[in-house]
Amino acid sequence: MDFRLTNEQQALQDEARGFADDVVAPGAQERDRAHEFPRDVVRQAGEKGYLGLLIPEEYGGGSVGNVAQCLILEEIARADASTHVTISVHNSLFTVPVLTWGTEAFKKKYLPRFATGELLGAYALTEPHSGSDAAALSTTAVRDGDEWVLNGTKMWITTGASANFVVVFARTDKDAPNVKGISAFVVDTDQPGFTCGKKENKTGIRASETVQLFLEDVRVPDENLLGEVNRGFNYALETLNGGRIGIATQAVGIAKGALDAAIAHFDGKVAEKGSVFSSQDVDFRFADMATRIEASRLLVWRAAQMRDRNEPHVREASMAKLVASRSSNAVCRDAVALLGPAGQVGACERMLRDARVTEIYEGTTEIQRLVVSRALKAGRG
Ligand SMILES: Cc1cc2nc3c(=O)[nH]c(=O)nc-3n(C[C@H](O)[C@H](O)[C@H](O)COP(=O)(O)OP(=O)(O)OC[C@H]3O[C@@H](n4cnc5c(N)ncnc54)[C@H](O)[C@@H]3O)c2cc1C
Repeated sequence: MDFRLTNEQQALQDEARGFADDVVAPGAQERDRAHEFPRDVVRQAGEKGYLGLLIPEEYGGGSVGNVAQCLILEEIARADASTHVTISVHNSLFTVPVLTWGTEAFKKKYLPRFATGELLGAYALTEPHSGSDAAALSTTAVRDGDEWVLNGTKMWITTGASANFVVVFARTDKDAPNVKGISAFVVDTDQPGFTCGKKENKTGIRASETVQLFLEDVRVPDENLLGEVNRGFNYALETLNGGRIGIATQAVGIAKGALDAAIAHFDGKVAEKGSVFSSQDVDFRFADMATRIEASRLLVWRAAQMRDRNEPHVREASMAKLVASRSSNAVCRDAVALLGPAGQVGACERMLRDARVTEIYEGTTEIQRLVVSRALKAGRG
């Protein structure tokens, strides 16, 4: 067991910290207020290689691995959770399934452009009537010659309006049991019949794009089928293991941002105001917040390291998300409470709103608890 970062990981973290402070943080408040998609920030992140962190060098990526990706993306989330989720979904939920199950022709043609962020990706599993119960999805894909024809509606899709391609899960065998009749496709959003609804007006991560997608007779070439027909549900779950590490990372980053903002606010103030809090009250709260963050981070790093080693990590990814998302909400609540009226405006207020969704997407808190309890019952205590 070794908790130290390598020199290379340390350098990547330092560089990302500078990028987050200089490029991501400025304007984060304004983008949140205006619900403005962080297009230019994402473009600059692409120039740094942050949109191709898991893509091998032969396809133009950095191939830094999951631990290093956590180090980099925690810094981005610390500055702006909306920018984080845009990049995290692109990396973990789009490029990974394309890499793992995509055809060589598609990978050669497109992955270099995804690695630079010239093209953006999204992941569409959820529907108006299926989310936690993802296997109940009703979008269909019917083969027609050497193409597939897709029909259905997807809901709550991150980057759904700006994405150039979306990994879409659709039912290819209506007679097979729910989990067995689903396939995955990479769908070009420029195809006729592919449209999206208006941006959701959300509580948090307001600068990220969340939309409904409508597929009406959208034609997809056979070469855009991921892996094997009717294996898509397995691919969806396997992809979510990495995605959950990404959201756990986001939760840690948001909490660290709130702690930093609260410390900066109090720097020097306690001595001035002395009457409201004793300095030790504040210090003890900061100590609890920092310890929660560190505990979450260690769970995240462990899950990421297991993923890098190709070890089973379903339980560990869920534990990391479960603890990190709850801790993030607790830390942000504490930060806002400590700031009093100043907690009603500014960065901590935004971070408290942003933290909320970390307990919802890529599996709610209840779903993570189900995953962990199933592992317990299977003897993986
Ligand atoms: C901002 C945002 C972005 C998103 N981005 C994407 C995306 O890019 N791609 C995508 O495919 N999806 C995305 N989602 C969808 C998200 O993953 C789902 O909303 C989430 O998994 C919850 O599923 P649901 O909507 O069906 O909620 P429900 O399952 O209806 O949840 C309602 C409540 O019921 C509880 N519940 C459900 N089942 C159980 C159970 N078996 N036991 C105990 N409690 C249960 C839940 O925990 C929750 O509290 C996004 C959602 C949001 C809010």
